[in-house]
Amino acid sequence: MSYKNYPMVSRVVFGRGSFNQLGDIIAPKRLNIKAPFIFLVDDVFKGNSWLTSRIPLAYNDQLLYISADEEPKTSQVDELVEQIILTHKDRPSGIIGIGGGTILDLAKAVSILLTNEGEAKNYQGWDLVKTPAIYHVGVPTISGTGAEVSRTTVLTGPQKKLGINSDYTPFDQVILDPELTKDVPKDQWFYTGMDCYIHCIESLNGTYLNAFSQSYGEKAYQLCLDIFMNGELTENESQDKLMMASWHGGMSIAYSQVGVAHAMSYGLSYLLGTKHGVGNCIVFDHLEEFYPEGVKLFKQMKQKHNIKLPQGLCANLSDEEFDIMINVALSLEPLWINAVGKNWKQLITREKLKGLYQKM
Ligand code: NAD
Ligand code: ZN
Repeated sequence: MSYKNYPMVSRVVFGRGSFNQLGDIIAPKRLNIKAPFIFLVDDVFKGNSWLTSRIPLAYNDQLLYISADEEPKTSQVDELVEQIILTHKDRPSGIIGIGGGTILDLAKAVSILLTNEGEAKNYQGWDLVKTPAIYHVGVPTISGTGAEVSRTTVLTGPQKKLGINSDYTPFDQVILDPELTKDVPKDQWFYTGMDCYIHCIESLNGTYLNAFSQSYGEKAYQLCLDIFMNGELTENESQDKLMMASWHGGMSIAYSQVGVAHAMSYGLSYLLGTKHGVGNCIVFDHLEEFYPEGVKLFKQMKQKHNIKLPQGLCANLSDEEFDIMINVALSLEPLWINAVGKNWKQLITREKLKGLYQKM
């Protein structure tokens, strides 16, 4: 048996207001005055000087606002890379992503594709990246996905929704400033926060579980309960703790896997464009049979925060459309092995998945 030797985020700052230090942190990484830093920033911050006035632009640095309305696509990564190459003679000094999982994943992918030839879709999979990425920094502004700490960047390509999983994917630097999450809308706070909760449930109840994953998963799970169930935290405490829960949840799945909710939510996302956070919630709500305790608590949290999940997503789908979702879900073999074991194919039939999707 050979064990995986994983890279991790090499540097991390934590603290309210630590975003102010971004300029000092990246300055030593500037290769020369012609090699710019490229800032990829969620366009929800356009016109928000509280945040944007602190983005340390100098020399040829460039700020690109990017919409998070849709999840990242391989074609979008290719376009960004081309735009950067055409605009700047020198290879950038670094890519800085400021936003949620969508923007963080784009920043990771762009930093990889700036040094690796060809199109982003060619790197979807495991360990296909040959050359180290350029310096990349992640600044999360919403907590839950664990994208700030993970070894993958999830992209939708022409054929599949799959991550670029590689040793070069993790950020070189992360800035955890919980204050940046203060204006996240409540529903979105819940959906992305539940991504973290679901990472914990899927990891802790999986066949891949080991002490490494369990230690991180249990911590993140406890933090989620403090935040979403116990209700005795101040806003600041809640923001601080959710940022750390996201981190631990991400670490937990590094050495294990996610499960049923993620497999099925990838199907929804691929066919209908349903976003990760809300999609996971929609699926998880119907998974009592796989995660009885986790789903029970989830329903309580949903009620406590008065969250109404979208209904009837699959009401008018054709058989062909169900097949597309089922194919995407079934293609994620490691998730099913983690969720139900090696003989998962006997238990997880197409009919079973169709029945579940029909409830959503
Ligand atoms: P997101 O980045 O899609 O953002 C959700 C919404 O919140 C957007 O409308 C965005 O504009 C808004 N928002 C973000 N920060 C805000 C702020 N501070 N104030 C107000 N609004 C704010 O959401 P997400 O749930 O963080 O990310 C989902 C993405 O993450 C998906 O594409 C998913 O595939 C990916 N993901 C990646 C990993 C990984 O390990 N790489 C893990 C899980 C999910
Ligand atoms: Zn997730």
